[in-house]
Amino acid sequence: MSHVLVVVEATDGSIPKPTQELLTLASRIGSPAVVVFGSNGQKAAEAAGAFGAEKAFLVEDATAEEYLVVPQAEAIAQIAKTLTDDGGLAAILFTASSDGREIAARVAVKIDAGLLTDAVDVRAGDNGGVVAVQNVFAASFVVEATVTHGPAIVVVKPNAVAPEPKAVTPVVENVTVAFSDLAKSAKITGRTERASTGRPELADAAIVVSGGRGLGSADGFQLIEGLADQLGAAVGASRAAVDAGWYSHANQVGQTGKTVSPQLYFAIGISGAIQHRAGMQTAKTVVAINKDEEAPIFELADYGIVGDLNAVVPQLQAEITKRKS
Ligand SMILES: Cc1cc2nc3c(=O)[nH]c(=O)nc-3n(C[C@H](O)[C@H](O)[C@H](O)COP(=O)(O)OP(=O)(O)OC[C@H]3O[C@@H](n4cnc5c(N)ncnc54)[C@H](O)[C@@H]3O)c2cc1C
Repeated sequence: MSHVLVVVEATDGSIPKPTQELLTLASRIGSPAVVVFGSNGQKAAEAAGAFGAEKAFLVEDATAEEYLVVPQAEAIAQIAKTLTDDGGLAAILFTASSDGREIAARVAVKIDAGLLTDAVDVRAGDNGGVVAVQNVFAASFVVEATVTHGPAIVVVKPNAVAPEPKAVTPVVENVTVAFSDLAKSAKITGRTERASTGRPELADAAIVVSGGRGLGSADGFQLIEGLADQLGAAVGASRAAVDAGWYSHANQVGQTGKTVSPQLYFAIGISGAIQHRAGMQTAKTVVAINKDEEAPIFELADYGIVGDLNAVVPQLQAEITKRKS
């Protein structure tokens, strides 16, 4: 069976949920291997083994952590060659983060392979190929694509699949990379950890509760946060709400904000402008609460509630509390 290389995005020895999802997809199409950067590689390799990683390549050279993206791309290209020579490489899977997208593109150029981005599923195709499934045009079309040259480089959106544990003890290999001078062009000069809200990361969250101008004020977000906390969800915001100074830009969903692809998305007091939809159109289930029955968000919603959010959301919260008790 051909190898499938999964690029781990973590430095603390854990395997984040989007990487667990990639490993689950990798197990379906080949023999999963991971590449881990940084000093916690051994711990991360064991964590990846819990989700089926049969091989783990550890790149402990600090260069990969001190410089932006290029050293990682060079290391992955080197490992891709090793796996190609050792039984074949079907695919390299990346999480659709800003680093993931950039490194994937660089690796595709380095190893002369086709690149598919924003996949929501990956499966084995004919003749050992790999098929990536993408949702396009406000999720009105499902596209299946395969690469015709080299291993498939696929960037997969978080929440594409539920992670499936599969305990394996990975064969661990330390990798030494002779980084080029070019790899050291952009140095990371500082890292500041953002204060945690205790809520999940917006881009990876399985449930997102978003609020818009219909909330009427910054205080309206207390309603959104309350519902989000009941559901263990992340909080999102429309640009109108962000521009009004009601919520942080880090939480903006849309064309000029974050792209989310949760299992469940609440759009509350949000009209559903195309630029907002661009950031949430691949959510599996969309619930819209809006007092205007003509609001465009209802074209996309699986469940629509026409009503005043100040009346609907508290009723929803009361019902959730009742069902949880
Ligand atoms: C280049 C560009 C990039 C952009 N990028 C983004 C982006 O990344 N993300 C983004 O969101 N937007 C983006 N926009 C802005 C976008 O076009 C819209 O203006 C914005 O999404 C509107 O936000 P909204 O839905 O909160 O506000 P509105 O369009 O004003 O909608 C508010 C909604 O709340 C409803 N409402 C009001 N009161 C209540 C109530 N009491 N109960 C229930 N419903 C109520 C109204 O019926 C209305 O539908 C961008 C625009 C441009 C030009």
